[in-house]
Amino acid sequence: MKIIFATGNRHKLSEAQAILGPEFELVSPKDLGCHEDIPEDGNTFEANAEQKARYLWDRFGLPCFADDSGLEVDALHGAPGVFSARYAGPQKNDADNLNKLLDDLREVPVHDAQGRALRTARFRCSIALILNEECHVFNGTSEGEITLSASGNGGFGYDPIFRPEGYTANFSELSAEEKNRISHRGRAMRQMADWLQQQTR
Ligand code: IMP
Repeated sequence: MKIIFATGNRHKLSEAQAILGPEFELVSPKDLGCHEDIPEDGNTFEANAEQKARYLWDRFGLPCFADDSGLEVDALHGAPGVFSARYAGPQKNDADNLNKLLDDLREVPVHDAQGRALRTARFRCSIALILNEECHVFNGTSEGEITLSASGNGGFGYDPIFRPEGYTANFSELSAEEKNRISHRGRAMRQMADWLQQQTR
């Protein structure tokens, strides 16, 4: 089955292809000659994922899915959330975003006097899949906390300052396989893959 994945990111495409397996042939909008910026102006990850998937469905009428993800920091009441990519401004620069987040949290210690963690955060990912005109949503989260400074040089985005729960290393210090195993996107993708495999069995 051919499925369009609304991404321009080759790395995400091959990661999703590995999770879905060879019964599914993933193509990007670019592969189909679509070079437009797909709109995403919803208030939630789910709304954005669905908006992007519907855009592709309306254009191509083929099975398609889109993901939307971001970071929620409890001490910032859930920010940056859906604004994760452009937290420090429309230039969408990973280093600027990460530095702004560290700066916003500069007064927030790791623990309070009772030992309660104060820099808790989670990545969330929503995937909207449209198959036979129906939209199905899959969600994945990865809990953790924001470290006091950046470390490691793998990954992207907020990886250098996100320490997943139960680990002594940040996302940026894990192998791609290990990160996929516990990441919000890996979890949402595997849910979608399981569901798709059940449908086509
Ligand atoms: P997207 O919806 O996957 O493009 O993610 C939007 C923004 O959320 C990215 O630009 C990153 O800033 C942040 N983000 C999402 N997933 C991750 C991740 O796995 N690691 C680090 N940052 C992420």
